[in-house]
Amino acid sequence: MKRGFEASLVCLNRGGNAWKLEATREDSDEVRDGSLSCRTCGQAFPIAKGILDALDPADDVLAREVDGWHEMAGPLGEDLVPTMTALPYYPHPPWVHLAPDFFQNFEYVDLQDRNVVDLGAGRAWSSRQLASIGRARERSWRSTS
Ligand SMILES: [Zn+2]
Repeated sequence: MKRGFEASLVCLNRGGNAWKLEATREDSDEVRDGSLSCRTCGQAFPIAKGILDALDPADDVLAREVDGWHEMAGPLGEDLVPTMTALPYYPHPPWVHLAPDFFQNFEYVDLQDRNVVDLGAGRAWSSRQLASIGRARERSWRSTS
């Protein structure tokens, strides 16, 4: 994680963005190992191999989702293509609630003329949805180049 990146993060617990970055190993590019702690709520997130792990370790639903993605790591079998392209619409937990939650974000966030980085995108279903939502910007880039 590059120093200074924390300035663009907001803690999901209380909305603060006052961070304490501690490096136990750092090179000329980034903090390779260490932690990022929220000065407001005190929650600490580990940094390992340069990657900030901001997942909530107490969230069991999230842990099951992560386990599922790990099981499916590697080349995608043709039998899974229909399922992957249907996400986030999938009739099994946690997807039943995830799709409405995902799209509800866009009642509060306007992506018009924004560049979006989809961190931790996994199989990139959310990247596909974000690209679709941001289609106006995508067309604008093509028409000017
Ligand atoms: Zn916090």
